[in-house]
Amino acid sequence: MSKTWPTAKLNTGATIPLLGFGTYAAVGKETTDATVASIKEGFTHIDTAAIYKCEDAVGTGIKESGIEREKLFVVSKLWLDRKGDVRAALDETLEKLQLDYLDSYLIHWPQTWDSKGNPTPYGTQPDFHAAWKEMSAIFKEGKKLKSIGVSNFSIKTLEELASKAGDDYVVPAINQVELSPDLPQNELLAYCREKGIHVTAWSPLGGGTSNPATNGGSVLLTHPKVIAIAEAHKVSTGQVLISWGIQRGTSVIPKSSSPARIAQNAKIITLTPEEMQVLNSKHADAENPQRIAKGESKTKMALGWTYEEMGWEERERM
Ligand code: NAP
Repeated sequence: MSKTWPTAKLNTGATIPLLGFGTYAAVGKETTDATVASIKEGFTHIDTAAIYKCEDAVGTGIKESGIEREKLFVVSKLWLDRKGDVRAALDETLEKLQLDYLDSYLIHWPQTWDSKGNPTPYGTQPDFHAAWKEMSAIFKEGKKLKSIGVSNFSIKTLEELASKAGDDYVVPAINQVELSPDLPQNELLAYCREKGIHVTAWSPLGGGTSNPATNGGSVLLTHPKVIAIAEAHKVSTGQVLISWGIQRGTSVIPKSSSPARIAQNAKIITLTPEEMQVLNSKHADAENPQRIAKGESKTKMALGWTYEEMGWEERERM
């Protein structure tokens, strides 16, 4: 069991800790306390977003922890209705987090929403190209953003991003996507590696309250194959799933509001090649809940775009 934190190099030359702390769906003091607890346990990579409505609580937690800013890797995200308003959105995020800069700022989803929060069709302006142009300019100014990236981008949308950019194209440093043994993202991972884009896994434990396939619980955490590996190492199933993601070279950002589970999640184990293989092939199970776009799979729509527009047509059972 290790408490040394594996890291990866981003295409900016910066170092990202592979174990991060997720903050989605925690609120208020719960988030502040969890942020303090996670930093005490050694987490230095913190993932948040404007839409989580907890940036201020995360900022308070960072301050209360007393950690030096340079020791942290803080990520936040631009929400869908701010694609034409990047500078103001970033300033609001920085103010709430009580920080002068972010280690990475991600376009949360490729889709655009209107100012009333309604999903808009593919092609609606301002689109992710406009947001990327502005984020690239801020990044090049060298003050508020140490790196820029995307989230929930497929090979298709990454190719589109690159194709419309000019010679001064900034290759995303990070692509943060849903990734767990039930959705290993093998093709996207290989593509991102080739392009020098680091991949971060969201819902690495199979998700919390947002998982309709399991009535808000994670089937991965209670799956017999994961339990067997956990028992062999005398650790929890959460630790097995986190260690699998880290051993594949992705960063993982499990969320927990429980000090006991935060402490547990901080302890990474080394899985054997056979155990890695069991988890690598887990997605082919018949019971795979396939969590594409949080239960919207019947309509094949995600936040206003079709799966085809998202580049998700080929995602089933990779
Ligand atoms: P997750 O981290 O896979 O799962 C979180 C759930 O697992 C919570 O209910 C948590 O409950 C529980 N949990 C945590 N550690 C555990 C352990 N050792 N054993 C058993 N249960 C455990 O799911 P997520 O929150 O959806 O994803 C993680 C992070 O990814 C988010 O917080 C957010 O930062 C990011 N995210 C990004 C996107 C995106 O679009 N970019 C989307 C979703 C999430 P307790 O709190 O009670 O421990």
